[in-house]
Amino acid sequence: MKRFTNPRDIYYGNGALEALKTLRGRKAIICVGGGSMKRFGFLGRAKSYLEEAGMEVAVIEGIESDPSVTTVMNGAARMEEFQPDWIVAIGGGSPIDAAKAMWIKYEHPECTFEDMCKVFALPELRQKAHFCAVSSTSGTATEVTAFSIITDYEKGIKYPIADFGITPDVAIVDPDLAETMPKKLVAHTGMDAMTHAIEAFVSTAASDFTDAPALRAMTLIKENLVASYHEDKEKGDDMHARDTMHNAQCLAGIAFSSASLGIVHSMAHKTGAVFADYGAHIIHGAANAMYLPKVIAFNARDARAAERYAFIADYLGIGGAGQKEKISNLIAMLRGMNDQLNIPHGIKYYGRDSFPAEQGFVPETVFLERLHDIAWNAIGDACTLTNPRALRQDNAADVELMERLLKACYYDTDVDF
Ligand SMILES: [Zn+2]
Repeated sequence: MKRFTNPRDIYYGNGALEALKTLRGRKAIICVGGGSMKRFGFLGRAKSYLEEAGMEVAVIEGIESDPSVTTVMNGAARMEEFQPDWIVAIGGGSPIDAAKAMWIKYEHPECTFEDMCKVFALPELRQKAHFCAVSSTSGTATEVTAFSIITDYEKGIKYPIADFGITPDVAIVDPDLAETMPKKLVAHTGMDAMTHAIEAFVSTAASDFTDAPALRAMTLIKENLVASYHEDKEKGDDMHARDTMHNAQCLAGIAFSSASLGIVHSMAHKTGAVFADYGAHIIHGAANAMYLPKVIAFNARDARAAERYAFIADYLGIGGAGQKEKISNLIAMLRGMNDQLNIPHGIKYYGRDSFPAEQGFVPETVFLERLHDIAWNAIGDACTLTNPRALRQDNAADVELMERLLKACYYDTDVDF
């Protein structure tokens, strides 16, 4: 038996935030991040919609990006005090992810952070509250997924919480919120979404249910991401591409929430913070954008994956004479998108503001020194489990393969192994 889980309701389109008026309950607690939602007036609107629905409203503000275990525990204590029956998380991935973890702790005060991290083993939620997620960025799609990422700063490790139970009850995908995204975020979150769609489609857990949203997401992203990057509301653009991207990233989220991902994400997770001491926090979406073309070449050694990548090329109308040519055209298309979005092709060239540079933040010697550990950790990442080409930590040859793949991602060299 397999499972395909989504929110019960997804409200979408400009002005969908108003759907908050339809929630039924006594008390709602809103969880938000740094301040842009407040600045642009969305927090105020959300609050008044909930009040219009007859609810008493409290707010947890200032949830940081890459939220910590401490933030989660403090938020849960606030919820315990207020006793909401709706949790409404508004913002990018971080406040929504944090609110999901607070929700678990609020429902089950005995649950420790270690308990939460046991994959697909959470106790029953929704005894105290339901969950509504309103996404303001077009990438992580946490508004529809069964995942949350919390950072344990004491250990310096990001932990994924994964359980169908934390899939929100209601998702609001209102493009008005995404129209305020800065340009760089558009590029990174957009390529993150493209990676979600492609990894979900070739995942060993892919199904008819996940293939459909994954393919549609790819089409929409191919047709709209670059245009969305150049759109500017202040210059009077109609923001059509930006709005479409908000749906596209959500569809990609629907696909990967049930199909999971692959080693592009494993590698992005393990390289993200590991060079922080050299000033290089490799932003999630940028890492995915750089590694995806390499991983496609690597995974294409698997016959089923090769067939699926070629199918994507056909589906997107990229063309190619045979399977090999189709796959290399797909890779070329993705690299072309990176060029248009100002994203470099390798870690070596990852420079200031994530833009391409002759020599980026990460020195070659430092990369090579840390390579073995990164490779080992990447294979151990949960996303490796559903990668089309299986890799195991206890197999030295696999670790060496991952090292070679990571090297290709550093130097931007071809993958022919
Ligand atoms: Zn991602």
